[in-house]
Amino acid sequence: MQSESASFFKLLVLLCLTVLCVAQDDFDFFYFVQQWPASYCDTKRSCCYPTTGKPAEDFSIHGLWPNRNDGSWPSNCKKDSSFDESEVSDLIRRMEKDWPSLSCPSSDGVRFWTHEWEKHGTCSLLNQRQYFQTALDLKQKSNLLQVLNDAGISPGDFYSLKSIKDAIEKGVGYTPFVDCNVDQSHNHQLYQVYLCVDSSSLDFIECPVFPHGGGCGSRIEFPSFSSSSHDEF
Ligand code: 5GP
Ligand code: 5GP
Repeated sequence: MQSESASFFKLLVLLCLTVLCVAQDDFDFFYFVQQWPASYCDTKRSCCYPTTGKPAEDFSIHGLWPNRNDGSWPSNCKKDSSFDESEVSDLIRRMEKDWPSLSCPSSDGVRFWTHEWEKHGTCSLLNQRQYFQTALDLKQKSNLLQVLNDAGISPGDFYSLKSIKDAIEKGVGYTPFVDCNVDQSHNHQLYQVYLCVDSSSLDFIECPVFPHGGGCGSRIEFPSFSSSSHDEF
């Protein structure tokens, strides 16, 4: 009897630990975050073009981040899972184009993809192929640059935060969170666009909660990336 209740107790503890572990890794939705390369590059920190060449003037992927409705998020969920290029070999060309790394020193992207997979992807309940494929498809689906162009918002000018948000809401169908940074002349500029994604359908949804901050002010620069002045970075 004694040992029976001891084993029952052990089982109970194991069950609680399992539930606790699963609960720590859970999430409610994804943030799909895209960055504007010119705004990553023209800050005090500057940037380095990828070894595969200067990216096109287009939004690029920062990451697909599991998030909870209370604003918290899980990270680094599987310590033993590292990025394996062979699992996404047929996606590498698209990743080089749509998910380039602009941090210094120059890289082919593998360091950035490894970081995003290990920190966020391992919590996504997707395998590596699904994770990277999903992000690439979401970028294509959101078509941000075209959506902004359609609303008369093009690189090389200043716009109001409302006009940028309205354009994305109209073109993509969902309200974005717009994140700004500051260039070397202290202008607020469009840096990142967050859209929310359903954790099971992997399609866009209205955001259950928005991140804090953003720091855009009312007049936002949408800097050009094609002008030669950036080529010194
Ligand atoms: P930052 O300090 O630049 O806002 O964020 C640094 C890093 O923290 C991001 O690159 C991202 O990995 C993570 N992070 C920041 N905010 C969020 C968030 O709201 N949700 C998730 N999942 N990760 C975030
Ligand atoms: P969080 O992604 O943790 O998801 O933060 C971004 C990390 O990836 C930082 O350590 C940053 O240095 C690195 N990184 C490498 N390339 C890029 C890039 O092109 N954009 C951003 N935002 N981060 C990058």
